[in-house]
Parts: sequence; structure tokens; C-alpha cells
Amino acid sequence: NRAAHETKTVLITGASSGIGEATARELASLGHQVMLGARRTERLKMIVEDIRAAGGVADSRELDVTNLESVHAFAQAAQHAYGRIDVLVNNAGVMPLSPMHELHIAEWNQMIDVNLRGTLHGIAAVLPTMLAQGAGHVVNVASTSAHRVDPTAAVYCATKFAVRALSEGLRQESREIRVTVVSPGFTSTELTHRGGSTEAQAAARAASEVLAIPASSIAQAIGYAISQPADVDVNELVVRPTVQG
Ligand code: NDP
Repeated sequence: NRAAHETKTVLITGASSGIGEATARELASLGHQVMLGARRTERLKMIVEDIRAAGGVADSRELDVTNLESVHAFAQAAQHAYGRIDVLVNNAGVMPLSPMHELHIAEWNQMIDVNLRGTLHGIAAVLPTMLAQGAGHVVNVASTSAHRVDPTAAVYCATKFAVRALSEGLRQESREIRVTVVSPGFTSTELTHRGGSTEAQAAARAASEVLAIPASSIAQAIGYAISQPADVDVNELVVRPTVQG
């Protein structure tokens, strides 16, 4: 068994709910030290308390991934608390679905800012540290929407296709940095709770209620990817409900 069991320091963006929260809980239970970031700090604090009560090592900090300074401060807080940055999980994301002709332009921009620019900000904030360490691991949460396009999801898919593209570029350029794309299918979270057109969001919620798998299934995939030996880079994991077409 060559699996690497050492403790890692892991930064998780969008850790206040859904896949990010489940990932923080899962990785802490595996013995990793986690730093949780998101805008809803009260929720982060409750999750950190839970993790600590279960014997894990966790801390949190307010984070807005659309703001490069905020992302830098988040990375610095983790570096300060734990002394190094082994893994960044770029998980924060939004999905306000709508047909293009409705011109929800502010929400298009929000998806670009959070899903795409936010991921790049995360990479920018940790890459110098990881290169100086001679090792690091970037896990980008994309989607099955990074592989196929559906009506009302054009811009969301565009951001997720872009996340896969930049992940592959980063992988090719760096010999020291491992890069993993985790592409979930329908997962039970708060993703469809905000924004978008009423009809498109209701359709997504209805599909999710029938199909979705728990966020812990995605967290376990991330746990698998970061537990591999140093010479093994799991490049992409697509994890979807068995019943999803
Ligand atoms: P949730 O809505 O439950 O979680 C999204 C997280 O992103 C929240 O913690 C939210 O925290 C955070 N977030 C949003 N905007 C920002 C911001 N500007 N700065 C920092 N954090 C932010 O949904 P999921 O858990 O489903 O989403 C996680 C990822 O999984 C996303 O990238 C999503 O696209 C992807 N995904 C989800 C699927 C699903 O079916 N659920 C399927 C495929 C991919 P806060 O609001 O507190 O800032």
C-alpha cells in the first residue's frame, strides 16, 4: 500500500456549505489540518467547532474569492497557522441558471468572477508557496457541466469548461504541482438555492431532488486524490449519481 498517510494542510474555498463543508469534515477526519474560507463566517465557525469537538484540526477565515487580496490573506492565514500549504481545494462556486435571451448579465459576470476568476485567484495565492516548497496540490472542483452543455447553463458550463482547461495547462507546466479536477454530477447542496430564473432553478432543484448523491461522496473523491503517493497525480475524477443520464 503506497498511499501517503501523512498529515497535510488543506485550504478549502466555499467551505460554509455543500461540497466544501463535506470536504472539510472528511479531510479533517482523515487527520489533515483544514482552513475553511467563505463569506458566511458564522457557518464556518460552527463547522470548525464541530470538527474540533471530533478531535480534528481546523480554522476558518472570511473569504471572498472574487477579491484577490482576500484570497491572498486567506492563504497567508493558513501559512501562518500551519507553516505550509500542501493542498488548495478551489471549490467555491455559484450556478444561477437562466436562458441566455433573458440577459442575466450580472449573474453571468458573477459566475465568471466566482467560478473562473476565483479559481485563478486561488492558484495565484498558493503557487509561489508551493513552488518554493517544491510540492503542492491544486484540486479544482469543476462539474459534469465541464464536459457537456445544457440549455440555461451556457455560462455556467463555459466557466467550468474553462476550469478544466486551466487545470490541464497548470498540470502541463509544473513538475512539482499535482493538479486534480473533480467533476461532480448532481449533488445535494445549496447550489440551486440562489439566483437564476425561477423556472430554470426550479427545474434544477427538481432534478437534484430525484437524482442527487450526498456531498460526502464528492468529499471522499477529494480525500482519495490527495492521499496518493507523491509521484501519482489523479488528474480527473468524474463522480455522478448512478441514475444520472
Ligand atoms: P453550495 O451553494 O452549497 O456551496 C457553494 C459554496 O461556495 C458556499 O460555501 C459559498 O459560501 C461559496 N461561495 C460562493 N461565492 C463565494 C465567494 N464569492 N467567495 C467565497 N466563497 C463563495 O453548492 P455546492 O457545494 O454544490 O458547490 C460547490 C462546488 O461544486 C461549486 O463549484 C459547484 O459549481 C460545484 N458543483 C456542484 C454540483 C452540485 O450538483 N451541487 C455539481 C457539479 C459541480 P458563501 O456563500 O458563504 O460565501
